[in-house]
Amino acid sequence: MTAIGEVGLPHYARKKDPTAFPLEPYIEVLEQFILLAKKFSKPICLHSIYEDAPIVLSLLEKHNYMHAHFHWFKGNAETIDHLIANGCFVSITPDLLYEQEIQALAAKFPLEQLMVETDGPWPFEGPFSQKETMPSMIHQTVAEIAKIKKISVDIIYRQLLLNTKKFFSI
Ligand SMILES: [Zn+2]
Repeated sequence: MTAIGEVGLPHYARKKDPTAFPLEPYIEVLEQFILLAKKFSKPICLHSIYEDAPIVLSLLEKHNYMHAHFHWFKGNAETIDHLIANGCFVSITPDLLYEQEIQALAAKFPLEQLMVETDGPWPFEGPFSQKETMPSMIHQTVAEIAKIKKISVDIIYRQLLLNTKKFFSI
C-alpha cells in the first residue's frame, strides 16, 4: 500500500442535497482514515474542496498529520495560504488550460508542493472537450504550469517527478 485515498468529504453531493449528506458522519469516517494514515505513516490523498477544505485541514491539525495531498484542489486564498504553510500538496488537472481559478492556484502554489493528475475518466472541457481523458493529458498541464511560472518545461517535469516520488515515498 502506497497511500490512503482518495478520501474526503462529499462536496458536490451535499450541495445537491444537504439533508441526504449530513457532514458529521463523513467527518467521523474521514478522521479514522487520517488516524490510519498516521498510524502507518502513509500519505493521505484528499477530496476536499471549497468550504470543506478548512474542516479537513483542522482535522489534520488536530492529529498533527500533514502528509496530505489535496487532489484537484479548489478553494479560497486563505485556505491556499494555509495549505502552503502546512507543506501540503495539491495536484493540477487539465482544466488548468481553461479555468482561471486553477491558473491562479498554479501561479500561487510553490512548485515544490505541486503534482499533476487527470482524475480520469472525468470529461474535461476547452481543448479537451469530446476527448477521452488520458494520462497523457498531463503533458499539456505541465506545459501550462511552465508558462504560468515562467520556468522551463524541463525543470517543471523534473520537479513534479521529484515531488510525486517524495510525497508517495516511491
Ligand atoms: Zn475527488
